[in-house]
Amino acid sequence: MARYCESVCRICRRENHKLFLKGDRCYMDKCSFERRSYPPGQHGQGRLKFSEYGLQLREKQKIKRMYGLLEKQFRNLFEKAELAKGITGSNLLVMLERRLDNVTYRSGFANSRTEARQLVRHGHFSVNGRKVNIPSYLVSKGDTIEVREKSRKCTRVLGAIEAVKRREIPQWLELDPNVFKSTVRDLPNRDDLTAPMEERLVVELYSK
Ligand code: SF4
Repeated sequence: MARYCESVCRICRRENHKLFLKGDRCYMDKCSFERRSYPPGQHGQGRLKFSEYGLQLREKQKIKRMYGLLEKQFRNLFEKAELAKGITGSNLLVMLERRLDNVTYRSGFANSRTEARQLVRHGHFSVNGRKVNIPSYLVSKGDTIEVREKSRKCTRVLGAIEAVKRREIPQWLELDPNVFKSTVRDLPNRDDLTAPMEERLVVELYSK
């Protein structure tokens, strides 16, 4: 599987947006984007002018990278969103939010989506009492996501729960940190997603 091996902070600077890819550091003064909020590279501080296609491409890349997906995974999800009832762009964002790696990150069991994905793959979580190690698993309304008994002393999970005070848990999730459990109160809708994302541009790009 393809892996991105360069500095992830470059991605934020490239997309001209804080994507919160590095856990706790993103909430501190050390954040590279706070210090150098211009694209990386020799011409990074030059005047940037995008064509219509360029804008669509950058928006797609931003959303894809924010959720840590590869192109094929993102495209597959887009195709599922197209087939579902409702507005394709909103469907896509809601499906991204419903991924188990995102839900564990949002619940505060991991410091970043990358860390959450690794923890899910290593079998640290259960959904409705059953072990699930598939990061792309889509949670449903009423599902309970728990850190498995044997993983409750994992320092990464404990550190993340401690650090979660620095960010908000979304309204559609209910966290009980004492029992390492998060419940999906309701599925998120478009208005619950506050990060600036213009899904319309992604739909336009993929509809060409
Ligand atoms: Fe992005 Fe986080 Fe790096 Fe800041 S610290 S540039 S938000 S990955």
